[in-house]
Amino acid sequence: LPRLPVFEALKKHEPTSTAVIHSLSGRSFTYGELVNDVAAAKDKLQRNTNGQSAEGARIAFLVENGYDYVTLLSILAAHAIAVPLCPTFPASELRYIIDQSESLMLLSSEKFQDKADEVLKEGLETKPINYKQEKIMLGKTDDYVTLEEPQSDKGGMMLYTSGTTNRPKGVLLPQDVLTAQSKSLLQAWEYSSNDVLLHVLPLHHIHGTVNALLTPLFAGSTIEFQFPFNATAVWERLAAPFLPNPDPTKKPVTFLTVVPTIYTRLLASHPQLPPDVQAAAKTALHPSNMRLNISGSAALPTPVKQAWFDLSGGNVLLERYGMTEVGMALSCGLDFADRVDGSVGWPLPSVEARLVDSETGEVMVEGEGDVDPATGRERQGEIQLRGPTVFREYWRNPEATAKEFVEGEDGKGKWFKTGDVAVRRRMDGVGAGKSTRPTQAWAKGPMWFIQGRASADIFKTGGEKVSALEIERELLSLAEVSECAVVGLPSEAWGQKVAAVVVLSEMGKTAGKGGKAWGPLDMRRALKERLANYKIPQEMRVVEHLPRNAMGKVNKKGLVRGVWGDGM
Ligand code: ATP
Ligand code: MG
Repeated sequence: LPRLPVFEALKKHEPTSTAVIHSLSGRSFTYGELVNDVAAAKDKLQRNTNGQSAEGARIAFLVENGYDYVTLLSILAAHAIAVPLCPTFPASELRYIIDQSESLMLLSSEKFQDKADEVLKEGLETKPINYKQEKIMLGKTDDYVTLEEPQSDKGGMMLYTSGTTNRPKGVLLPQDVLTAQSKSLLQAWEYSSNDVLLHVLPLHHIHGTVNALLTPLFAGSTIEFQFPFNATAVWERLAAPFLPNPDPTKKPVTFLTVVPTIYTRLLASHPQLPPDVQAAAKTALHPSNMRLNISGSAALPTPVKQAWFDLSGGNVLLERYGMTEVGMALSCGLDFADRVDGSVGWPLPSVEARLVDSETGEVMVEGEGDVDPATGRERQGEIQLRGPTVFREYWRNPEATAKEFVEGEDGKGKWFKTGDVAVRRRMDGVGAGKSTRPTQAWAKGPMWFIQGRASADIFKTGGEKVSALEIERELLSLAEVSECAVVGLPSEAWGQKVAAVVVLSEMGKTAGKGGKAWGPLDMRRALKERLANYKIPQEMRVVEHLPRNAMGKVNKKGLVRGVWGDGM
């Protein structure tokens, strides 16, 4: 039976090296302390299950982002299934997750015990144990425990999807899947014990837990939590080691993995910083100091990538594609040349990926199948994935599970239908073989470009297929537009018509005729040279903000209802 690879790794790290830092208070915790605390928390947890076995049981928990996530590791060590909850969710949302996951226990740290009491008071179908975790005690560093683990393969994590298209679905990620996801990332992104990762993401999603917590712990990196996200505070932290009088306790940050909207917010706040912080922040971003800046969870606008490059003196954002069900699936490479604008790179190590023509159901042959011989146009296909990083079931939702998996013709297992659409392009001069790093040999074949979600971003207008993402990319490259979402609206004449919801930039507010706001006619004129006529939005609405969820994503159905009303 499998051991827990993450703990095997934890125990091998130098016990006195720093595992976690709380940026604001400066408190830090070593790997030795972490292992001791995980063991202690696990023992307590196992004594508080009212005689029921923790193995395989779901344990929902409400703790603060930071070192309190010892809790997650202790649940894994008990071979239970960790269900991280977002403390800022309203009680009703938390009840949905607790009930849906049929959690045995709701664990809360001191800070969230009132919230837990409120959640448990009424409206739950299940009756979870109300477990109030005392303050996590720091184990003695000179007296390390050995983490005794029951031998079992029942544990893992249950994460809920972001709920961008529907009610969040519970995705069961068994330990072997989590381990495979981390191993794939370790190889591709070369996390190391020299890395200092600044963690500003929510921890109840795969991006924050697997990419920014479990995987760096595997590698012995230092994770510095800065929470809640605040652009000025992030800049001050990044700048600290490079100020004229540097703070000796602050090490240069080498690794940042966030969503595109966070890069946008950082870029917007940089000019507001005092001059010395501005300058030091730029130094902090320079590729000689900042090893890796990753973007994902939503499409990265090229102007954001360009602005980051300019500000940092040459740091190219690395874009990758992933989802709750599979962890990370596609990624650009570590060489700057392997980070092509608009591309999410190649299938990651151990990930098998294919494109399937959604209309004919045909599996597209890489290379020749990527272009339609009749028209010479690129062909879009649905991304389907297979391999050890892919989940096996939606929790208590066999219908969804059955619908999203399709049998492979080669008898080597089922493929997961991601619902996302991509095209592949052969790019010269990039990818495996061109890289100086042997670990990047996985990055081979044509590059992948995400076109959007089949359900919300791909639609037909006048018989022509369009990708909302492609149009959004062009709109975002205009100086008048700061944010946008392209949608398909029902149309008698066209089947669907292209419409854009736009947030104007400061400049856009006066860029129209006679100093008026930039409008639909200006948009059509600007896009004329860039897009085929049928792709240019026929309608444009201006809003103050786009409604985004915790991961910075826009729920397009909700947006259409909000802007055009319930009839849509
Ligand atoms: P739900 O499944 O509940 O509707 P969700 O799909 O947003 O929510 P996640 O699993 O957090 O939940 O997000 C995965 C999705 O995010 C992918 O299916 C894809 O549509 C989108 N995504 C992730 N990375 C990228 C990227 N680099 N570019 C474009 N889209 C991306
Ligand atoms: Mg999804």
